[in-house]
Amino acid sequence: MSLKYKRVLLKISGEALKGQDIYDQEKVQDVARQIITLVREGLQIGVVVGGGNIWRGNLSSNLGMDRINGDYMGMMATIMNGLALEATIKSLGYEKVRVYSALEIKTVTTPYNYREARDKLNNGYILIFTGGTGFSYFTTDTGASIRAIEIKADALLMAKNGVKGVYDDDPRTNPKANFLKTLTHREVAEKKLRVMDLTSATLSADAKLKIEVFDMNGENNIIKMAHGDLDSTTIQ
Ligand code: UDP
Repeated sequence: MSLKYKRVLLKISGEALKGQDIYDQEKVQDVARQIITLVREGLQIGVVVGGGNIWRGNLSSNLGMDRINGDYMGMMATIMNGLALEATIKSLGYEKVRVYSALEIKTVTTPYNYREARDKLNNGYILIFTGGTGFSYFTTDTGASIRAIEIKADALLMAKNGVKGVYDDDPRTNPKANFLKTLTHREVAEKKLRVMDLTSATLSADAKLKIEVFDMNGENNIIKMAHGDLDSTTIQ
């Protein structure tokens, strides 16, 4: 089985790690195991993880909190997820893993530096990019586009939970929605397809970043995606 890409950026949402509690151990281990398998096969892999299993900025209004503070809490949630993933990867026997953070937390994360990141990828490290962009009013999707561009990833693998890619309408409400196998960045914008947020889509289009949207729910789907053995929507 050959790898479709040499270097990828995998974006997973925080929800993908969630069970009844903020973490479902099996889910976190499954993601970690698949990443380790791929790195051992020679794939260079950076991971951007969201924070939605713990906190999203738009919850701030419930507490009468300033949105900006709420967003920073969301970014901190992504750091928690990165640390959880790092610990799990190590517990499964892979030591070469590093958590970068866009927000400075010197004690448990490494401040982000793209040159160092590229070096580490060349040397078999799994890199987990946390803290999103480091700015409020952004999302981890945008963080994922930026990091994918900066590490010169061949593709951004955008993992969805339970949807196999992009449709021309919402498949959960419209059973007649058509699955779209390939799209251009221009089509995504013109058809207003909500694959990712607008900032992330614009950045990806500018940088001509190839994006694969796929369903990570399913046995070894991340591995299958990296081998090109899974239905996905390719945007380029
Ligand atoms: N966030 C932010 N700036 C960023 C990335 C994330 O302010 O660059 C905040 C935002 O409040 C968001 C929360 O962190 O709601 C969690 O991130 P996101 O919703 O993107 O995570 P996901 O839904 O992918 O788990």
